[in-house]
Amino acid sequence: MKKNFLNPTHKGLQPIRVLEHNVLYVFENTYQDFITELKTSISKNGLQPGLTYHCLEKEIRFSNKDFDNQTPFVGLDKKIVLHETFLSFLWTFCYTILVVFDEGIQKPLLAKTYNPKNPLPEIANEALKLFDYGLSLIDNFTKWDKNLPNPEEYDDSKSFYIERTNAVYLYAIDFILLHELGHVNLGHVDESLEAHKTGSYISSHQIKEDEYAADKYAINLLLKGRENPVYQKTIEFGLIAGFSSLIFLSSKLTSKTHPDGDERIKIGLESLNLDETDNLWGIACLSLKLWTDKKGVTIDLPASTETYKDLFYLTLKKLEDKK
Ligand SMILES: [Zn+2]
Repeated sequence: MKKNFLNPTHKGLQPIRVLEHNVLYVFENTYQDFITELKTSISKNGLQPGLTYHCLEKEIRFSNKDFDNQTPFVGLDKKIVLHETFLSFLWTFCYTILVVFDEGIQKPLLAKTYNPKNPLPEIANEALKLFDYGLSLIDNFTKWDKNLPNPEEYDDSKSFYIERTNAVYLYAIDFILLHELGHVNLGHVDESLEAHKTGSYISSHQIKEDEYAADKYAINLLLKGRENPVYQKTIEFGLIAGFSSLIFLSSKLTSKTHPDGDERIKIGLESLNLDETDNLWGIACLSLKLWTDKKGVTIDLPASTETYKDLFYLTLKKLEDKK
């Protein structure tokens, strides 16, 4: 049976449009009563209600000029802006880490047949093909081939991973939206407005400090949603997926204005107080492995480690040497 969620009420040009309503819904319901906090941000800090959701068949481009920037941001008018192509990319990333980790690593490990040299199962290869599409959107827009996994039209047999991906994706984007909200509530947008008015300059050091602060702000709010245990693991997965997705937008982990991409993932993981055997350490390792593979960075890692947590810290150490 094919499932088809195509519906004329969905705003958008890409299959990710089926989740457009859910993006705002999950954001507004980050935790119980969060809506009250949002209303305070609107009345006290000048946040513009809602989101600007641009639907353009354009590549994901980062630009300092708001009108040209396709990555999520909050403008000087304090309205949070999303572009559909970035959201498509984010979904392909969430799907890929979920499927490759479960089907390519965890299941074989449990069956004691895991060998990194073995070919991946078909479903994991298909996920990697989808991710190549997602990555291609960074430089070049093409339409999503709906024969590949997507949230709009799929066979029933694919629902398990697609529907889990939808949930992880919604918390990953929620994390990103909360980060942008942090820039408003912590006074960073006012700081930029002031600099604009007076023609002064905000140092890269200050911008980086603000980015750390906005990350911390977003983590705290997102994790409040864990009060509802039903969503706990999905929220944690979404947080790590959100952080991890962002490293793919650049071929370097370091930046003048943002904390290093791998360090952000580390801060995210450490904020979760995870057990050392938690699979999220493995998900983060897989994300970094995908990044090194796709960006042509070679690091030497042992064939096995005691835990994914050990592998994660070892990977960070090796990446540090490459910076
Ligand atoms: Zn930011």
